[in-house]
Amino acid sequence: MTQVRTRFAPSPTGMMHLGNARAGLFSWAYARHHGGQFILRIEDTDLERSTEAAIKVILDSMAWLGLDYDEGPIRQTARLDRYRAVLDEMLADGRAYKCYASREELEALREEQRARGLKPRYDGRWRPENAQGKAIPEGVKPVIRFRNPDNGDVSWTDLVKGEISISNTELDDLVIARADFVPTYNFAVVVDDLDMAITHVVRGDDHVNNTPRQINIYRALKAPVPQFAHLPTILGPDGEKLSKRHGAVSVMQYPADGYLPEALFNYLARLGWSHGDAEKFPREKFLEWFDLAQVSRSAAQFDQAKLAWLNHEYIKEADNDRLAGLVAPLIEALGGKLEGAPDLARVVALVKDRAHTLHDIANAALLFYANGKADPALLAQHVTDAVKPALATLREKLGAVAWEKPAIAAAVKETLTQHGLKMPQLAMPVRALVAGQTQTPSLDAVLELFGRERVLSALGTSL
Ligand code: GLU
Repeated sequence: MTQVRTRFAPSPTGMMHLGNARAGLFSWAYARHHGGQFILRIEDTDLERSTEAAIKVILDSMAWLGLDYDEGPIRQTARLDRYRAVLDEMLADGRAYKCYASREELEALREEQRARGLKPRYDGRWRPENAQGKAIPEGVKPVIRFRNPDNGDVSWTDLVKGEISISNTELDDLVIARADFVPTYNFAVVVDDLDMAITHVVRGDDHVNNTPRQINIYRALKAPVPQFAHLPTILGPDGEKLSKRHGAVSVMQYPADGYLPEALFNYLARLGWSHGDAEKFPREKFLEWFDLAQVSRSAAQFDQAKLAWLNHEYIKEADNDRLAGLVAPLIEALGGKLEGAPDLARVVALVKDRAHTLHDIANAALLFYANGKADPALLAQHVTDAVKPALATLREKLGAVAWEKPAIAAAVKETLTQHGLKMPQLAMPVRALVAGQTQTPSLDAVLELFGRERVLSALGTSL
């Protein structure tokens, strides 16, 4: 069997959003599942709209999601000579031709067709047989058109959508290059997929309508036609096209928003594909399971709550040192000072179970790295004369115990019994004194992390 070769071919003209990333992910997974090769191609022939910044975002997004490629990034702008050579061959024998119709002329043609109730369509007026003897108009730069077959059908078995067939009478002679020989998408994509020996074209179903046109070009080039798999659209939660409000944001917004790559990876993998009722699975399992047969034919729906749930699950199981490395800059950005304060990995371990994003961890951890000074009103409210004797007892006991959670908890409990207090009556003033706030995780864990020195000195200020 020939080796599977797939590609991801984004255009660097805007952001890389979830729809693009999902196409890249499935294409990559198909190659990996079949032990094949995966190629990254940058479709940058739209010279006005392509930017280096957008290319960088594509590369960063791929790296962040862990989508590695065997070849590339190959830029189409590095292949202009190759497209030109193919165009020359096609022009030489009439498979393609120059069209000098002006914009106004084409607009008039469309108007006339509409008025007659016809579908607007180029009428072949510059096909070689029609152009004979015609004067080439001054000042019009020609485009190059592909001579589409007039009759017959174009059919293929889409690996997701099944049989698709379009009549050539529905198609017209497509513009495949500008006057300067810079190709349009439909032409460059065929030459590239051919030259790169792509066996399976996996892409979003917004390209279904381009596929018959591309198949006709393959045929004109006497080339084998690859298999096609068109992935279902991703809709927003409201069933509308994905918009900025939900998911049509750049992939790189997710790390900025505190998501782990494995969470977004897992989320994208389930967007239009399923394996039984598996919701959370590691990348190795996905690669083992993935095939196009389980890609859904119907649209997928973006679900922010599910993505947040996955992120929460992956945060819970992530290595604490790794999380600490990711969270440290976030804490500093919140004004926290990490030096001399409790070990961040231990703090992460304490607070991560309730976090849905890395920002949640940073916010919860901040209390250990803020200056810890409560405002006087808070202290006045909680550190009353009535509770001060108990604070003194606790301080004395904490000065003598082994500095570990169970011993700290025992000291707190003994103090409560001795002074006939309930937990909150003691915990609130202690929290206010030590942490500068009354909302914290469990008291013994917090005291342990702050360390004996800080705890004794904070309790001392009340006496
Ligand atoms: N550059 C096209 C896009 O970003 C690629 C489509 C394809 O995969 O053929 O939509």
